Amino acid sequence: MIEIKNLSKTFSGSGNTVEALKNISITIADGDIYGIIGMSGAGKSTLLQLISGDLRPTSGAVFLDDINLTRLSRLRRDRLRLVFGRVPQLSQLMRKRTISENLSAVAMLTQSRKLPPIQTRIQKTLAMVGLPDVGARYPVELSYGECRRVELARAIINSPSILVLDELTANLDEDTIWDILHLLCEINRHGTTIIMATHAKEFVNLLRKRVITLVDGQIWACQRT
Ligand code: ADP
Repeated sequence: MIEIKNLSKTFSGSGNTVEALKNISITIADGDIYGIIGMSGAGKSTLLQLISGDLRPTSGAVFLDDINLTRLSRLRRDRLRLVFGRVPQLSQLMRKRTISENLSAVAMLTQSRKLPPIQTRIQKTLAMVGLPDVGARYPVELSYGECRRVELARAIINSPSILVLDELTANLDEDTIWDILHLLCEINRHGTTIIMATHAKEFVNLLRKRVITLVDGQIWACQRT
């Protein structure tokens, strides 16, 4: 379970201060799908980065099963980060590496005798996102939508228990969005918690899950669709 308690984040720099999030409290149960919607600048990305430990809050805390993520030493935080699979808003694919190499860089973070070999995991994950044959290609050789699917593959390759997705479906055609949402439902059915920020309110509503609307860094509404 993730408990977000009185979370605030203020960015300061070059003479101005932005209160990106103000006193947010949410509880996310294991296996939930949470959609975070709101206009550009509402604080969606900031909230996701605070949840996954990529940003530190100005005040408040994020608890993961009673562990205060905001108080952990760097080493423990780095270990715990593997619990999260992330797709950031901006692509993090390495342009000069093949798709397989991109995935392998993440897969290497969790090596264990219990897991299948890395190449097997890469093939299986690419097949899951509907791109079984792109391993030897470079990101520049794929369409934008295919790259987003590869980013999703990269996020799920280590079977994280929580997926944090920032505008995964932005700028994609409707068919691709549906394919990705079906895949997310499938991943969720196996127990993965999914927290996704999106402009696509209509699609999140159709997932019939919890939806949080942020306005100016505050929770405007929290509903089950
Ligand atoms: P959203 O994802 O909903 O578009 P963001 O979380 O990216 O919103 O941003 C919320 C607010 O915080 C915006 O006003 C944005 O300009 C500001 N902001 C986000 N990141 C930074 C940063 N690193 N430095 C300064 N301001 C930031």
